[in-house]
Amino acid sequence: MQRHSDAIVVGAGIAGLMAALKLVPMRVTVLCKTKLGFGAATDWAQGGIAAAMGKDDSPSLHAFDTQRAGAGISDEVLVDILARDAPARIEELLELGAAFDRTDSGELALGREAAHQRRRIVKAGGDATGHEILKTLIEAVHAHPSIEIVENVTADDLVLDGDRVRGVFVHDNATGEAHTYTADAVVLATGGIGRIYRYTTNPVQATGDGIAMAARAGAVLADMEFVQFHPTALEIGRDPMPLVTEAVRGEGAILVNDLGERFMLDSHPEAELAARDIVARAIFRQLQRGRTVGLDARESIGAKFPVEFPTVFAFCESAGIDPRVRNIPVAPAAHYHMGGIAVDEWGRSTLPGLWACGETSATGVHGANRLASNSLLEALVYGTRVATDIAQTPKPPPAGAIAPHAPSLPVGAGEAQATLDLRNVMYSNVGLERSETGLRKALARIAAFEEVFPHAGGELRNLLVVARLVTEAALARNESRGSHYRTDYPKTDEALARRSFTRLRSVA
Ligand SMILES: Cc1cc2nc3c(=O)[nH]c(=O)nc-3n(C[C@H](O)[C@H](O)[C@H](O)COP(=O)(O)OP(=O)(O)OC[C@H]3O[C@@H](n4cnc5c(N)ncnc54)[C@H](O)[C@@H]3O)c2cc1C
Repeated sequence: MQRHSDAIVVGAGIAGLMAALKLVPMRVTVLCKTKLGFGAATDWAQGGIAAAMGKDDSPSLHAFDTQRAGAGISDEVLVDILARDAPARIEELLELGAAFDRTDSGELALGREAAHQRRRIVKAGGDATGHEILKTLIEAVHAHPSIEIVENVTADDLVLDGDRVRGVFVHDNATGEAHTYTADAVVLATGGIGRIYRYTTNPVQATGDGIAMAARAGAVLADMEFVQFHPTALEIGRDPMPLVTEAVRGEGAILVNDLGERFMLDSHPEAELAARDIVARAIFRQLQRGRTVGLDARESIGAKFPVEFPTVFAFCESAGIDPRVRNIPVAPAAHYHMGGIAVDEWGRSTLPGLWACGETSATGVHGANRLASNSLLEALVYGTRVATDIAQTPKPPPAGAIAPHAPSLPVGAGEAQATLDLRNVMYSNVGLERSETGLRKALARIAAFEEVFPHAGGELRNLLVVARLVTEAALARNESRGSHYRTDYPKTDEALARRSFTRLRSVA
């Protein structure tokens, strides 16, 4: 089956739905791997969305904080756009009906998060911001007849006409049937890559499909080495891992290993309240030594736990853990990818006909590390700009004949085990601490998987591409910066203060 629309959007999280809404009145097809409202990190975002809405705040201060977190390599122009456009995007969500939290006097109740100099975090339902935004956007797209949502399909590859992107090859998740969707413009908004790691907070759909599709088509990728790990994901054998919000440590909970040692006191003067990557690495080192790590909230929070942290409490309870009387088992988990498909200030990739927005893109605003609550914002701001640019782009000349798409390959024997092995290799060698030895070991394992499974189906196909790109970029950066920490190059090298750009070697 072949269908044509003005624009295709792959992915139905905050980035994809915002872009689709802004593309109206064009005829837009949104392709979604799951049922709408599921399978998107957006739904799980707790902290909130950053914007300089307070009287004491300004876009320039927000931009300053964003660049400081980015550790010297953020794109200044794109950061300024991000901070400048933020308040207008929040106002639009309010107009669409988003029920953000308010103070008693009716103003937006702005929260404060680490490394933000002002209270600028817009929230909903305390810790349900992403869910509220997704719900609002879904209601809005349903109200537009020119937006067609196609659920439970997986985009496999881009349709190419020379180097121009003409559409997307898709398979139906239930039947495996192959379909071809063509359009004048294609937007990739497929979210993150957390699934390349054994431990992640990302949904199972976060397999880096957009990056892998764009890479296979020859697009340039950027900043692939920068992966942010959250220090305290709940280690109760679940995959993905639920998040234990930083606020639990903010309320005084301490980290101890199974010998009862409070190891953060030796790691940093600010102990448990040190920066995210410092705490995450300290926990990782404990785990590498064979220790387990727990978050002890018994004294600091105690009986108030169910009221103050109902979401975390419910997760603990489901595993038979009562944080009022025992430690919460935690481990660091892959949380957010700063890198992705290289795009300019209008979300244009290096391939004509292809745009990207949200976590799958690399605008450069996050530099080497993301400032908390800036990712939902980036998706809104750049999802909007992508749509503006598409509307102003002349229609491409008619396409030539498009070869039919082969149906998706079934998942072969051994692929599930290989996927798990790959995720373990990545967590141990290309995660919180990296070294040339470990990175070369990981590359050798990736090459071995590629040889054994040259036509991998299922999630392994894209995970291998993304794992290779992250590992190669990590090997090429001989310094430590932001989220990228090399034990053999522990210092930041000012001579390397620039973003990284790459292509998949097999297509370069
Ligand atoms: C637990 C958690 C908490 C977070 N908290 C915050 C926070 O407080 N503030 C903040 O700013 N950020 C937060 N983040 C990060 C933020 O949620 C994400 O970066 C953001 O939601 C990404 O939006 P997106 O639209 O790019 O991707 P997603 O919301 O992940 O959506 C991707 C979409 O693409 C679909 N898709 C993927 N592959 C395919 C394919 N091949 N074919 C078809 N469809 C496909 C998916 O099913 C999904 O619909 C958090 C992340 C997590 C995991």
